[in-house]
Amino acid sequence: MVHFIGAGPGAADLITVRGLRLLREADVVIYAGSLVNPALLESCRPDCEKYNSAFLTLEEVLAIIADAEAAGKTTARLHTGDPSVYGAIREQMDALDRMGVSYTITPGVSSVFGAAAALGAEFTLPGVSQSLIVTRLAGRTPVPEKEALRSLARHGASMALFLSASMLESVQAELLAGGYAPDTPAALVYKATWPDEQLVRCTIGTLAAAGEAAGITKTALILVGGFLDAPYEKSRLYDPSFTTGFREGKT
Ligand code: SAH
Repeated sequence: MVHFIGAGPGAADLITVRGLRLLREADVVIYAGSLVNPALLESCRPDCEKYNSAFLTLEEVLAIIADAEAAGKTTARLHTGDPSVYGAIREQMDALDRMGVSYTITPGVSSVFGAAAALGAEFTLPGVSQSLIVTRLAGRTPVPEKEALRSLARHGASMALFLSASMLESVQAELLAGGYAPDTPAALVYKATWPDEQLVRCTIGTLAAAGEAAGITKTALILVGGFLDAPYEKSRLYDPSFTTGFREGKT
């Protein structure tokens, strides 16, 4: 049995209760070493075999799992944040299906939510944006043309960019080409929820310069949109005059 587990964005106590239980019980742990907090591995059993997947190919990961299965062992596959976001779990699950190995998936707190918490931000402010676009700039992994950053930028929605902090000049140029005003608020969040977390607030027009000044080139999210500081309307849900399934509105 294999358990895919979201480790959370960084702080060791941001893994879920279920994820931690599965991690504690595992015979074998394969963890994404570049971004998973090593403190989480201290929860593992003393006899647990640990492998850092940063040094492994997909085939090597699968070979470790196959050996564990043959020995009747349970494997925890620990991914950073939530495994469904840039986690490359689909190819592992498909291979496990072919191998006849069963698995479960335990979600995690994605770094996109760790970053919002660090900034004290809400992505979905009434009157500002009711949508969050999660995307990236094309790198070695291409992005489908219909999702090019400049076309997504046309929506002016709240946006979170993963895997793009090393390309801030291009991110800035694409967002501006898509129609965001240069004074649109932006933020760089480096290592959200880690002890060395760093927050840089700027605008889209100053994004590249702000990133360079702060020396941020990786392990960061780029957040952009009016949600970071534009005026907004209060929510209807908590408006005194608004009737909901739980509460009668007063005029
Ligand atoms: N599955 C992960 C994302 C993995 S892709 C998740 O849900 O968060 C790796 C990218 O995630 C990094 O390049 C960076 O853009 C982002 N990232 C991961 N952890 C981060 C953190 N603590 N703070 C800021 N960005 C982070």
